[in-house]
Amino acid sequence: MAKAELMNYEKALEQFEVVIGLEVHVELNTKTKMFCGCKNEFGNEPNTNVCPICIALPGALPAVNKTAVESSIKIGLALGCDIQPTGRFARKNYFYPDLAKNFQTSQYDEPIAFNGSLEIEVPSGAVHNVLIERAHMEEDAGKLTHIGGATGRIQGAEYSLVDYNRAGVPLVEIVTKPIFGAGAEAPELAAAYVRSIREIVKALGVSDARMERGNVRCDANVSLRPHGTEKLGTRTETKNVNSLRSIERAVRYEIQRQAHILASGDTITQETRHWHEDKGSTSAGRPKSDADDYRYFPEPDLVPVQPSKELIESLRASLPEKPSDRRKRLAAEWNFSELEFRDVVNADLLDQIEETVAAGAKPQAARKWWMGELARIANEAGDGVELNVTPAQVAELAKLIEDGKINDRLAREVLGFVLAGEGSPAEIVAARGLEVVSDDGALIAAIEAALANAPDVIPAIKEGRMQAAGQVIGAVMKAMAGSADAARVRELLIEIANKAQ
Ligand SMILES: [Zn+2]
Repeated sequence: MAKAELMNYEKALEQFEVVIGLEVHVELNTKTKMFCGCKNEFGNEPNTNVCPICIALPGALPAVNKTAVESSIKIGLALGCDIQPTGRFARKNYFYPDLAKNFQTSQYDEPIAFNGSLEIEVPSGAVHNVLIERAHMEEDAGKLTHIGGATGRIQGAEYSLVDYNRAGVPLVEIVTKPIFGAGAEAPELAAAYVRSIREIVKALGVSDARMERGNVRCDANVSLRPHGTEKLGTRTETKNVNSLRSIERAVRYEIQRQAHILASGDTITQETRHWHEDKGSTSAGRPKSDADDYRYFPEPDLVPVQPSKELIESLRASLPEKPSDRRKRLAAEWNFSELEFRDVVNADLLDQIEETVAAGAKPQAARKWWMGELARIANEAGDGVELNVTPAQVAELAKLIEDGKINDRLAREVLGFVLAGEGSPAEIVAARGLEVVSDDGALIAAIEAALANAPDVIPAIKEGRMQAAGQVIGAVMKAMAGSADAARVRELLIEIANKAQ
């Protein structure tokens, strides 16, 4: 396929207004599936968490998972939604081998939650009020693996394998109303919105919220219209984008691609699109079906969901603090500068730093390690690679430095061994003998050896020319292979100089 032509981003924004809409699927972490008692677990052998209900054998009847309903209500309440006092499930009819039933059990005209909003801050500091149209319950589909093609997609594959472990896993789909007015920051707003949803469902404890495992997935709708016009442009829907960075890139790409097409006088095809992380581009999927095409009808095998007022109010009372409140609280507790805090949020490291501080590290030390050395290593490892280090281990590393047991250079070395799976920082320091030499006798001997080669240093220090000390400190650090505490070496050197005749 020919590579699509793109319009320069700034030029595209000069000519068109961007309208986005976001659909986020959240996989709930209930113990069992939405309509049967099969385990809801990731990573098991294919087709081991299945039963007659989730593979739709004749006569099998579903029953609704109570915890999944409660989790969905919690999500709705956290998004400021109204909760439907009575709602039915619906069948969304389609044929595809990823669901054995030939329909997906979903909600259509009676979603569990509707009419919410969420305040989202973008990197520039501007705050957008994103309106939520609805949040509804549904089941996930199974996983298809296409074998034999070059791309892993169905096109060109020789055969496909199906794993129904995920079929019937509870999902909540959260749909925004069209979002206007984000302008050049629409891609960043899309990513920040998904980040907030992820924070909310994580704080609620209703999802593992791991994007790399597909627990939170985003479909991004993008359309353009000439400035000053009313009518919405034709939209495309880029499916299943599963990292924050990809969401930002995919929205930006679609803006540039559509702007080029519209400016050439052509029309946009209403369709789904696939995001290709490696190429940084989208490609056409299938023509987007309208809701009518799915022949939704009420699910006859399930009774309506009717949460009592008492249940809703008790769930409301159990909600954790809002992400925006949490940020304000953390910013005040940590005492970071506004820029430092925003960088942490944008690097998506709020949780890690909070947990590291909770494990005993000073906020600035936690920030320094996650934003510095660990960010560098993560960057080199590439997208989606998880570093093998826990916040508790980073806190332990920071404590070792604070106690003077290791210096920064040794700490970086220790961190390398932690990432390689050798154990906790303290274990590694003990096992590898990496502790800084705090025995003054050994330091004094090394200082005296260095002074023997630099006879001018003591007179210089006595005359107050402290920069002369650097030469000796450097020589001691080198002789002790970095395991000396430079500050202590300096103190001892000054003592020696003061005692010298
Ligand atoms: Zn089952």
